[in-house]
Amino acid sequence: MIEVRHLSKSFGSLRVLEDISLHIRAGEIYGIIGQSGAGKSTLLRCLNGLEPYQAGSVRVNGQEIRELGTAQLRGMQKQMGMIFQGFNLLSRANVYDNVALPLQFSGINPKSKASRERILQMIDLVGLSDKVASKPRELSGGQKQRVCIARALVLQPKILLCDEATSALDPKITQEILSLLLKIRQELNLTLVVVTHQMEVVKRICERVAFLKDGRLVQEGRPEDLFVMPNQDIRRFLGDTTEVLPREGRNIQLFFSDDAHKSYVITSLARALDIDFSICWANLENFRESVLGSLIINVREADYEHVVSYLRKQNIVTQEVL
Ligand code: ADP
Ligand code: MG
Repeated sequence: MIEVRHLSKSFGSLRVLEDISLHIRAGEIYGIIGQSGAGKSTLLRCLNGLEPYQAGSVRVNGQEIRELGTAQLRGMQKQMGMIFQGFNLLSRANVYDNVALPLQFSGINPKSKASRERILQMIDLVGLSDKVASKPRELSGGQKQRVCIARALVLQPKILLCDEATSALDPKITQEILSLLLKIRQELNLTLVVVTHQMEVVKRICERVAFLKDGRLVQEGRPEDLFVMPNQDIRRFLGDTTEVLPREGRNIQLFFSDDAHKSYVITSLARALDIDFSICWANLENFRESVLGSLIINVREADYEHVVSYLRKQNIVTQEVL
């Protein structure tokens, strides 16, 4: 659905995106993550033609963005709704009129029967039927973001681009908005591209993620693959949680996939090898439907080889933590 190849972009002499290649499939929820300043928003804006780029290619449904004329670009942008962290709602207009705006801007009569039905349908979809006549100042942050979602969907886009859409919301409201995004993806058959620095967003809804660092795509894959066994860059991004490990012996990190955590590997390890070791750190993460875990144990130097080979035989992925 979206194909990016060797994309590079500069602002003046500042290189912001460097040789980015990625492929977003129809119907998936694709995350773009990374520290502030990594180039996430710029990449997102290149996808819908809001930012020009100097090199490489961005194709949406096979069409090269750079080659589109103004009218064609407008048409393509209608296929892509966008929501942001700041809500950008018209404060003087009520919910209904805010949702109607994109129709007006694209020359569709917002007062026609079809338009009115569409507007009310979208307001209903985001659960704000009782707020149709409310002004933005009468709404909570979560409700404002719902209005933005309805507004982004009113032109019936195929793709929804979300730039830090939940970053200003508290955790409970974030979860509600994520549930709503999952629901609309399902009901409207949308493709979602989600820019975020929030782990909870990645874990709950993203099926694949691209990790950007200083304008480069450092890693791409399923979140569970990136985060359960993070490389150094991603570990830094997550905030290193494993600083206080013992200096004696050897520290081994174990990674559990969905069913491995049910196999009592730790107690069986102690019994099978008849050894003692200590558990230094443990973590369970919920990725969409599946639970993945990781654990660090500290073993005696003399037991190290036995432990690693035992775990390998049990199909447990391990890695020494220095
Ligand atoms: P992110 O969304 O990951 O925080 P951005 O894409 O917003 O990162 O920004 C990436 C880099 O590009 C930053 O160094 C930022 O200062 C710079 N930048 C973004 N937009 C502009 C612009 N319109 N003009 C000049 N520099 C910009
Ligand atoms: Mg940004």
